[in-house]
Amino acid sequence: MKAAVFKGAGLARALEFETVDDPKPGPRDLLVKVGRCGICGTDLHMTSGHGWDFPVGTILGHEYAGEVVAVGREVERFKVGDRVSGMARAGCGACEACFRGMPLLCQNGDGEMGGYAEYLRLPEGAAAQLPKTLSLADGALVEPLAIGLHGVRMANMPIGAKVLVLGAGSVGLAAIFWARRLGAQRVVAASRSAARGPMALAMGADAFVQTGQDEVAKVIETLGGPPDFVFECAGAVGLLAQAINHAKVFGQVVSLGFCTAPDPIVPGTAAMKQVSLCFPLAYSPGEFEQVADLMLAGVVDPKVMVTSTIGFDDLPETFEALRGPNDQTKVHVLIGEA
Ligand SMILES: [Zn+2]
Ligand SMILES: [Zn+2]
Repeated sequence: MKAAVFKGAGLARALEFETVDDPKPGPRDLLVKVGRCGICGTDLHMTSGHGWDFPVGTILGHEYAGEVVAVGREVERFKVGDRVSGMARAGCGACEACFRGMPLLCQNGDGEMGGYAEYLRLPEGAAAQLPKTLSLADGALVEPLAIGLHGVRMANMPIGAKVLVLGAGSVGLAAIFWARRLGAQRVVAASRSAARGPMALAMGADAFVQTGQDEVAKVIETLGGPPDFVFECAGAVGLLAQAINHAKVFGQVVSLGFCTAPDPIVPGTAAMKQVSLCFPLAYSPGEFEQVADLMLAGVVDPKVMVTSTIGFDDLPETFEALRGPNDQTKVHVLIGEA
């Protein structure tokens, strides 16, 4: 099959096409024909050489939707023809994280990816059934939206909170969406790029602030006071400190940006306001399925997040172009979907 393989950080193209063997599903695996896959900021961070990279040879891509084309003999919940998306980790089923319903935090075994290829092997335990009538376009957005849902739930946000979301890429938009629906009184989105404003408003933000000079004062004015909750959703170095600067006394900073490089903060600055910090990861299987169901119910049309849809052949070049400044939010790669 054709796959875009990670060849190493610092090359002109981090991803190159190769013909590799089709994945072989084990007894408890599904073989999935990938329909489409989103490009995630984490894919870009972890192939950049700035911090913590995927091993060379990895086939990335974890925001996919596709169709089951074969099942192992012990698979119980899926059959050929089902539409599925996959969670980034199946979990061992025997550790504290797995018992607590968060297999994404399981420290045993490898993650599951492989969406930048025609087919992927998916353990049954990491597969999520997509409702039959949900499009693959929506299906490939379940993953980023589930990350936003989990982050907002982990924050234990009371009804009526003032919320600031730093970064208006797909995770930021998902955080805006869920903060709005889970009871925030007012949500302000902030980003370096003014082009992100309209989409932030479409996802539920009350107002948009361009970051830069005087941003703390601008946010206070727009939000009607300093934020109770700051969601850091861009993962750029410096943003955690900026989030702490914004937070009110007793405020909470939620780090969803998944920065993979050292990101210095001054603990004293946070202590002066007794700010708490939390680092939610991913989502639970239940949250993942809840998002798919809400999409199907028409509660949201998240396709507004997809700013461009490209062919598989264009992936390596587009991937590099996204490292620089750009106005894309979510780029979808059509792989097996007509
Ligand atoms: Zn992602
Ligand atoms: Zn486990």
